[in-house]
Amino acid sequence: EGRSIVFASGKGGTGKTTTVANIGVALAQFGKDVILIDADITMANLSLILGMEDIPVTLHDVLAGEADLKDAIYEGPAGVKVIPGGLSLEKIKKARAERLRDLIREISQMGDFILIDAPAGLELTSITALLIGKELIIVTNPEIAAITDSLKTKLVAEKLGTLPLGAILNRVTSEKTELSREEIEALLEVPVLGTVPEDPEVKRASAYGVPLVVKNPTSPAAIAYKEIAAKLAGIK
Ligand code: ADP
Ligand code: MG
Repeated sequence: EGRSIVFASGKGGTGKTTTVANIGVALAQFGKDVILIDADITMANLSLILGMEDIPVTLHDVLAGEADLKDAIYEGPAGVKVIPGGLSLEKIKKARAERLRDLIREISQMGDFILIDAPAGLELTSITALLIGKELIIVTNPEIAAITDSLKTKLVAEKLGTLPLGAILNRVTSEKTELSREEIEALLEVPVLGTVPEDPEVKRASAYGVPLVVKNPTSPAAIAYKEIAAKLAGIK
């Protein structure tokens, strides 16, 4: 069974989707079988960042018994597989929770890494995403408001039995107003797994629909994402 890791945050816009796309593709470049689940229905842009069009069948269609799982699996860059989540509130009500659990178990058998791109906050859809993953990585910016919201997410995840692995600090500049890595580790009580700098290449890559680690592998953020992926893969 593969590792299922949910990438979540308290605040929106911290860089979860960017992080899942780039770490996912980097892991695939290292030869891992990677499945990405886009669990953020409101901001379903994981497939866009990866340059994928036409992803009509979602996990919801599978839960509703209207499609086979294989129809909801799409191939992305470097061979990553992407499953559109489509887990909106009323859709979850219609689909039975046990079926979701069975489905997740089935997906876990299919790859070394299952990375889940969660919606921000603690709405039902976010909770569902937290439940899908066995492990949690918090994606946060080094600001106090983002950290306090991330702490809430971490505490909820722990209550749900999801193990917090650590945090990724994204969009880090060297401004004095930023919290330090040590301060953040003390506040969140988890290790910082990596630091991704603010990098204009991130937006350029997403405009092209090519993940940064492919489009510009030597840019500072790409290097940071590859380092974190190597750590997760146990290469470093
Ligand atoms: P989330 O999924 O948490 O809402 P996104 O991954 O969509 O966040 O990122 C939010 C915005 O921030 C996007 O416009 C993205 O291009 C930008 N962004 C993310 N990470 C970085 C970075 N390291 N440097 C510059 N811009 C970034
Ligand atoms: Mg997102």
